[in-house]
Amino acid sequence: MVDLCSQYLKIKDAVDAGIQEVIDTAQFVKGGKVKEFETRLAEYLGVKHVVAVGNGTDALQIALMSLGLKPGDEVITPTFTFIATAEVVALLGLTPVLVDVDYDTMCVTAEAIERAITPRTKAIVPVHLFGQNADMEGILAVARKYNLFVVEDACQSIGSKYTFSDGRVAASGTMGDIGCTSFFPSKNLGCYGDGGALFTNDDELAQKIRVIANHGMEVRYHHDVVGVNSRLDSIQAAVLLAKLPYLDEYIEVRQEAAAYYTAALKDDVRFLTPIVGRGTTHAFHQYTLRCVGVDRDDLREHLAEKGVPAMIYYSIPLHLQKAYQDVRYQDGDFPVAEQLAKEVLSLPMHTELDEEQLRYIVECL
Ligand SMILES: *Cc1c(COP(=O)(O)O)cnc(C)c1O
Repeated sequence: MVDLCSQYLKIKDAVDAGIQEVIDTAQFVKGGKVKEFETRLAEYLGVKHVVAVGNGTDALQIALMSLGLKPGDEVITPTFTFIATAEVVALLGLTPVLVDVDYDTMCVTAEAIERAITPRTKAIVPVHLFGQNADMEGILAVARKYNLFVVEDACQSIGSKYTFSDGRVAASGTMGDIGCTSFFPSKNLGCYGDGGALFTNDDELAQKIRVIANHGMEVRYHHDVVGVNSRLDSIQAAVLLAKLPYLDEYIEVRQEAAAYYTAALKDDVRFLTPIVGRGTTHAFHQYTLRCVGVDRDDLREHLAEKGVPAMIYYSIPLHLQKAYQDVRYQDGDFPVAEQLAKEVLSLPMHTELDEEQLRYIVECL
């Protein structure tokens, strides 16, 4: 699905030198590399503050902690996403309110969010699934209308852009109150271990986020709020500093691979190829087909026999997960997510796919 070794070989000198520098200076935690990476990423995104943390899940948790939500407050998230999005809501004693997604973009819609709002709703966590932005213009309008916080789950979409109808262009994760991303190795900007970050343009929130991520501590050993321990280590920051200059190029290569797949498969009645929503670019963290005229699981097995990996993201929507069973939700409540769970198939997608590999994958399909 990914080829991180070949990608590394092309930037080996910069990565190795960065890691060696961290070892030589022994600044393993909170070193200059972390600060430098936060600054560079903020510049790249055009956002005021970037706070690096331990992983994307922590970023989502810290974001919700910084908003001062109380147990029982409702947070709206899509049911078709990775579990982390709702997990942190549940862990904090907040109530996840799940909503269905759009069949074409597979992202949550402003309409579904608005229908789920109650007097207890406090925040929306849209997920920019597979690398394209959800309908942020519509979602931000709903948030303004009902005075709700917006925390973008941009764990799969870093580097993608969104154009508002007034022409303003914003980077994914910089449109809501807070954006969260993950630097898990296979993500579009991946490190060599775990990592994550929060983005915000709000000075006060940025300060709260820094304090919460550091044990709720502003003055050493004075703990004014309950926090967590979540930090990016300097070796990961060194890797990310080496890779950030290539992020746009990496995304272009992914987009070219996606265009190859789509050109080859768009007239094939067995598949629906990805549809890019209004106003957004697609960073193609995943290239995800909907299998509508073929048995998805048979096809996946056939591909595996030919040495072509293909993955199912996600086979069970959150409302049907055992840990999230709730009297509010039953099988059949979110028909689009349930249909997608049966149809989706993600093909190999990474920065090292060459034409020969792409041709072979399409041939096997
Ligand atoms: C990867 C991912 C996360 C979690 O990131 P980690 O760094 O693995 O904790 C959260 N949400 C989505 C949509 C993701 O894809």
